[in-house]
Amino acid sequence: MKLLIHTDVVVDLAVNPDDSLLEQLSRDGIQAWLLAASLPDAVRQIQNTSDDPKTHDRLRKLVSRFPVVLQAGPEVADGLDDSRAAFSETLAAKAVRDNNLDAVLTLNADPFSNLGIVAITPAELKAQLAQPAAPVDKVALLDIPGSYHEWINDAERAIAEVIRSGRFILGPQVQDLENRIAEYCQTRFAVGVSSGTDALVIALMAADIGPGDEVITTPFTFFATVGSIVRVGAKPVFVDIDPETFNIDTNLIPAAVTSKTKAIIPVHLYGQCADMNPIEAIAKEHNLTVIEDAAQAIGSEYKERRAGSLGDLGCFSFFPTKNLGGFGDGGIVTTNSESLLERLRILRMHGSHPKYYHKFVGGNFRLDTLQAAVVLAKLPYLDGWTKQRQQNADRYRKLIADANLGAHIQTPEDRMSRHIYNQFVIRVADGKRDALREHIQARGIGCEVYYPLSLHEQECFRNLGYKTGDFKVSEKAATETLALPNSFEVKPQQQEYVVSVIQDFYS
Ligand SMILES: *Cc1c(COP(=O)(O)O)cnc(C)c1O
Repeated sequence: MKLLIHTDVVVDLAVNPDDSLLEQLSRDGIQAWLLAASLPDAVRQIQNTSDDPKTHDRLRKLVSRFPVVLQAGPEVADGLDDSRAAFSETLAAKAVRDNNLDAVLTLNADPFSNLGIVAITPAELKAQLAQPAAPVDKVALLDIPGSYHEWINDAERAIAEVIRSGRFILGPQVQDLENRIAEYCQTRFAVGVSSGTDALVIALMAADIGPGDEVITTPFTFFATVGSIVRVGAKPVFVDIDPETFNIDTNLIPAAVTSKTKAIIPVHLYGQCADMNPIEAIAKEHNLTVIEDAAQAIGSEYKERRAGSLGDLGCFSFFPTKNLGGFGDGGIVTTNSESLLERLRILRMHGSHPKYYHKFVGGNFRLDTLQAAVVLAKLPYLDGWTKQRQQNADRYRKLIADANLGAHIQTPEDRMSRHIYNQFVIRVADGKRDALREHIQARGIGCEVYYPLSLHEQECFRNLGYKTGDFKVSEKAATETLALPNSFEVKPQQQEYVVSVIQDFYS
């Protein structure tokens, strides 16, 4: 339930030392918001009625505890168009509608009666909470605005700061983020770039990989891994995957190495690191560059070492669906090498160094200051969210085992040392994946197939000469995998619903 706390309730919460309403508003499942425009009015009323310093303390705690809905001039003007008497109610109603909130919480619902929103009193809220909760009948695969309650004001403040500074290209927040991500990923350096895809492209360019070179990678990944290799003019060479982790099968890499091999791109798929020790050994033996595609793996660990620090270059994405997403496209490349750092910085600005003198051709691969500011604002929450994803994964495993679904469904395990569960991907046996997918989608559950076609079978890669049957494990995974809702905002009751719907499919 998402509620807007109206001015009269703000005043009541500050003046009234009884905390029971506050406790109710802190309950799991309630997202309470304040309306910025109503706060000065609430403060004035409180100052007029009480000079008790405890009241002011309570007020201060209150306004720093709940997120605030902001309204701009035109929205306030809309409020003025309506009857003057109900100005603050009109503003509140508009905020409820614009922000998809469920109701306004007010001591007096009457002024809201003609405003087209639900108004409830604290007593009504209490009665509603005493009822058994409505059964879950919907679970989104991912609900980005669903978590705004926790962090949106931080992002809004960061955005406003960038706008006021006017420094939209490589502003100080980009450098800040680079330092923070390098620290987070346990590397010396990081370079912010325009997307996860461009992180891969610029990493390949920095490693001087181009026409005539071969790059070994997995056929079971997002398209960008392989598209980037082709875009720099090199040839992707596929190696099949491990059936359990869905990551590159390192036993098969040596046979794929030729005199033309220049690099290996392991992908830490779904948030779990590839088996890096054998990859490091092969790379060392043949003098290959290792570029980690860590787009799904920020904070993931392999033997207590962080993704991004395991190869020569680590590529991350801030695409909104990743564990640390911005408000648009963005990415970052990590490295420990000073010479690679310099090349990355130069390539990011069209290969220009000094300005307007070009030693090589790069591109416009810059990260926007606005995106850097948003990602910086969200970064302090990342570890908490990761923990929730891991707990959700544990809960799914337990629910699926308890429902005796083990013969039909294989759940992902943490085989390395820190799996961050960008996705929770099950394997569905006996050719039932698509039927199960339809069954659960029809019952309001979001799910997705990552990825339905192994990349060696894609039309655009036909010229590479591969055919169906070349990478059997990858081909099988493409027909059997299904991602269940596992984002940090998914609640235990929702997971119980998901598993009960799966159980229902098999009974
Ligand atoms: C998301 C993703 C990318 C590309 O990142 P963008 O920011 O969307 O360009 C690359 N590789 C993998 C494995 C990804 O999941």
